[in-house]
Amino acid sequence: MTKKMIIEARINEYAMRDDNPHVPWTADEIAETAARCREEGASIVHFHARNPDGSPLHGVDAYAEIIRKIRSRSDILVHPTLGWFANDDDPAGRIACVTTLACDPATRPDFAPIDTGSVNLESYDAESRSFHHGERVYINRTTTLELYARDFKRSGIKPQLVTWAVGFTRRAAAMIEMGLVDEPAWFLVNMTEGACLTGHPGTAAGLKAHLAFLPANRKVEWASNVVGGNLLELADTTARLGGHLAPGIGDHPYLELGCPRNEEVVRMAVRTARAAGREIASPQETREMLGLA
Ligand code: ZN
Repeated sequence: MTKKMIIEARINEYAMRDDNPHVPWTADEIAETAARCREEGASIVHFHARNPDGSPLHGVDAYAEIIRKIRSRSDILVHPTLGWFANDDDPAGRIACVTTLACDPATRPDFAPIDTGSVNLESYDAESRSFHHGERVYINRTTTLELYARDFKRSGIKPQLVTWAVGFTRRAAAMIEMGLVDEPAWFLVNMTEGACLTGHPGTAAGLKAHLAFLPANRKVEWASNVVGGNLLELADTTARLGGHLAPGIGDHPYLELGCPRNEEVVRMAVRTARAAGREIASPQETREMLGLA
């Protein structure tokens, strides 16, 4: 039987509503969106806590409220962020929110991300031929990655290994070899389009360059994602290569599709996957495929 496809809905990141007005911010909006994405086929929801004005919201209570609300509405698996430009000089502090949430089964996240390297996060304006935010660096020291992996394992949280380039994948493979990350390892292949130059291009060539270096001797599942680009254009290729999909309006407003809601983007991804012969995994099937407790 052909492997089922896991759909992770990436519903908000730190996107504002200037481009797509449907980005969910509040706990109720996030829970409502998660339930609708679940109905359309998503089995995992990735979200960032936001204030009512869209600014980043931090803290255990905020995340606990969102997770409880999501779980009261559906059985979708929960994947909160660690936060944006957190201070890498305090790695334990950076994951304290997630590991504290894990102390209570009602709020324990099913997943948490580990970006397995550091990246420049400037934006490039091709029109004016200039960089903006040239100082922005997302730092993830290797000692930090080790600490995250150990603490997540202890807390019963499955890491999502976010790889932005082949070097990240190689480091993740070393972490699997070291026993820091259990198999099957769950990768997010993060490509970038538009103003963000730091990842592989969100094209079949960019994706295949990643996949060529996934550890062949390990049990691995991977999902594709395009920051700043239309992931649906890679949905058929991803489905045929045996991958999973992580679509959502958090990473791209989909202006070219008339600014759809998250659940509509999920529906389009599901349609393409099915056309390529892939049925969609339920949350329970996703648990089994990714080896969740
Ligand atoms: Zn995120």
